[in-house]
Amino acid sequence: MSIKQIQMVDTKTQYLKIKSEVDLAISRVIESSQFIQGPIVHEFEANVSDYLKCRQAIGCASGTDALQIAMMALDIQPGDEIITTPFTFVATTETIALLGAKPVYVDIDPKTFNIDVIKIEEKITSKTKAIMPVHLYGQPADMSKILDIAKAYKLFVIEDAAQAMGAEYKGQKICTMGDIGCISFYPSKNLGAFGDGGMLSTNDEELGSKIRMITSHGSKTKYYHEILGVNSRLDSIQAAILNVKLKHLDEYCDARLAAAEKYNDRFDGIFDVPFIIPGVKHIFHQYSIRVKNRDRMQEFLRTKGIPSMIYYPVPLHLQKAYKYDYNEGDYPVTEEIAKDIISLPMHTELTDEQIEYISEKVIEFNNK
Ligand SMILES: *Cc1c(COP(=O)(O)O)cnc(C)c1O
Repeated sequence: MSIKQIQMVDTKTQYLKIKSEVDLAISRVIESSQFIQGPIVHEFEANVSDYLKCRQAIGCASGTDALQIAMMALDIQPGDEIITTPFTFVATTETIALLGAKPVYVDIDPKTFNIDVIKIEEKITSKTKAIMPVHLYGQPADMSKILDIAKAYKLFVIEDAAQAMGAEYKGQKICTMGDIGCISFYPSKNLGAFGDGGMLSTNDEELGSKIRMITSHGSKTKYYHEILGVNSRLDSIQAAILNVKLKHLDEYCDARLAAAEKYNDRFDGIFDVPFIIPGVKHIFHQYSIRVKNRDRMQEFLRTKGIPSMIYYPVPLHLQKAYKYDYNEGDYPVTEEIAKDIISLPMHTELTDEQIEYISEKVIEFNNK
């Protein structure tokens, strides 16, 4: 094994294993010339709704768009408040801000890195319209409690499942518990396209038709625009690729889980290994641990040919663009974790040898 081969994600090797099938699917779309709204898009949408066991799945152009469209479909207005986590990718907050609503953050649970459900109620005001949990790193947020709170206060629940396609909460696929689920097919996500792509899922037929209209300029019939919409569609080539990869998704999730278990075995007693809520299927979009001297560890690993990433170095309430009236110290758990979290290489193609080598170097630095 050459250490140079270790990658944060290895979508190339994954592709080579299903190359003939994927290439055929792409060439079929090219032959058909139906690049937008081709039949393969609807076939893929039907396959996703079967996979998730939800009534409707509607393709769109990205996970970020899915979040924005979800809020548009639920009539989120300027001044409304959306409860979410400050420890996530910027898209969650960005789309709330784009609609003129305000992200109201709730600190995270230090064990799961997801929104701390105990602290949600204290943030609810008369302006609160929805809770937007993020299933970070592939682990479902504590959905039972979130749904209970939403019901009690009559709030919508929008699941940001960009990192968790395939994860389960108490036997149910995530993305099917809230009002709307939002999925990203960004290439490095667990179900990754060869470009941008996204999807919304819902069990509410009426909401599903509204979402479909919004993705297509607010119209059902071409050139008749009933509501405000956007141009956000999953294109046929991406749908064709994803339709092939969907058949392998469970296998991909299992490969990530197996890799995580191997890291766990090596790190047992040395680091706090990722905590998994009993009854959930964590699909390890990322394998993240807290370490001392994080930045120096990252540099040390780099010199050993091991890539790593910091998801996320700056909490959203401290980002210049989204500061609102938030200050440093407002979300202490998030702020502390942002300083010592590190994500190690995690993908479907990691070999035992690579995991052993990575673990050995992480432990070696820790023992210095
Ligand atoms: C990737 C991601 C998004 C955005 O998805 P894109 O397809 O890149 O637009 C949103 N939320 C989270 C938590 C993500 O990880």
